Amino acid sequence: MRVLVTGGAGFIGSALVRHLVLDKGYEVLNVDKLTYAATLSSLKQVDSAPSYRFLKADICDGRAISEAFTTFKPDRVMHLAAESHVDRSITGARAFVETNVFGTFNMLECARSYWAGLTQELQSQFRFLHVSTDEVYGSLGEDGLFSETTPYDPSSPYSASKAASDHLAKAWSHTYGMPIVVSNCSNNYGPYHFPEKLVPLVILNALEGKPLPVYGNGANIRDWLFVDDHARALDTIAEKGRVGETYNVGGRNERRNIDVVRRICELMNEFNPAGGQHEELIQFVTDRPGHDVRYAIDATKLEKELGWRAQETFDTGIEKTVRWYLDNDWWWAPLRKGYEGTRLGLLKTGT
Ligand code: NAD
Repeated sequence: MRVLVTGGAGFIGSALVRHLVLDKGYEVLNVDKLTYAATLSSLKQVDSAPSYRFLKADICDGRAISEAFTTFKPDRVMHLAAESHVDRSITGARAFVETNVFGTFNMLECARSYWAGLTQELQSQFRFLHVSTDEVYGSLGEDGLFSETTPYDPSSPYSASKAASDHLAKAWSHTYGMPIVVSNCSNNYGPYHFPEKLVPLVILNALEGKPLPVYGNGANIRDWLFVDDHARALDTIAEKGRVGETYNVGGRNERRNIDVVRRICELMNEFNPAGGQHEELIQFVTDRPGHDVRYAIDATKLEKELGWRAQETFDTGIEKTVRWYLDNDWWWAPLRKGYEGTRLGLLKTGT
């Protein structure tokens, strides 16, 4: 199995590449532009594997991407490359439209011309998995869950650009008959998560006795999924998902942001007793504009139809995550350096 992964140097992409190379024994070509969000050190475990290759390229670059298709000859594409941070999309939306919308268009077009040249048998085996977010569905009230048929209602430049890319992927499936599947997932957390995101930020600030910034009153609810569960879900969907379908991925782990932060503080009180009562470091900061209130995913279709289940609960996953950060400063210390000056800035508390 030869899989072309885009965005494999990012948080979820690197978890997926490690899973495909180490657990599944697949050949992987990782295509990544290496933006600020990329960390090649997350791929240390696969770096020297003969089945792993890396290509530094922009998904908007038609020539580089079509060459990647013709030389690597993938059986599958798993498209994760994206600008992914909501706060950054509010202060600079252009890169989001370029990468998420135009970049996805370019991936689809390059895949289409490669796919058109395959034999009929290979055409039917080929899959293009477009990886997206539950944020395309907008915000929920106190009740209800997002299902695959929930109408799109994105509210940030990030979610709007991802919604546009989902529509492109579905249109390329309908119009050209390409074997495309779309997945929409809830908030991920886990090892190798860039230190500006909520969970690692809280762990590392707590470790260093610095303020723990929480947006608004911390009541926003997210559905949390351990990143390795997402990686397995993506492989399952690419393997068994029905062409033209969408699958929602979620962990049935709804938590208010403030409860996530408090749970991390409890774990830090246990693992880092010298740090005192870490919850005393919590500071509420001005809310993000247009902050969605609640996201929650109904993953029944993925569970029933394809047999996937999350292996981690929030409690087991968050404990593993805290321990991982405490044991792996070699990974996060160099990344964190650049962020020390703006601890409570807008860019620091996105999820
Ligand atoms: P990330 O920001 O950690 O990584 C994105 C990767 O894409 C980086 O390695 C970056 O260098 C690369 N990239 C960005 N622009 C590129 C371009 N023009 N060409 C090539 N590579 C480029 O993102 P993530 O959190 O790992 O998310 C991966 C995917 O999953 C995204 O499509 C995102 O929308 C989706 N998603 C994320 C979450 C989450 O909680 N993080 C939840 C649901 C869905």
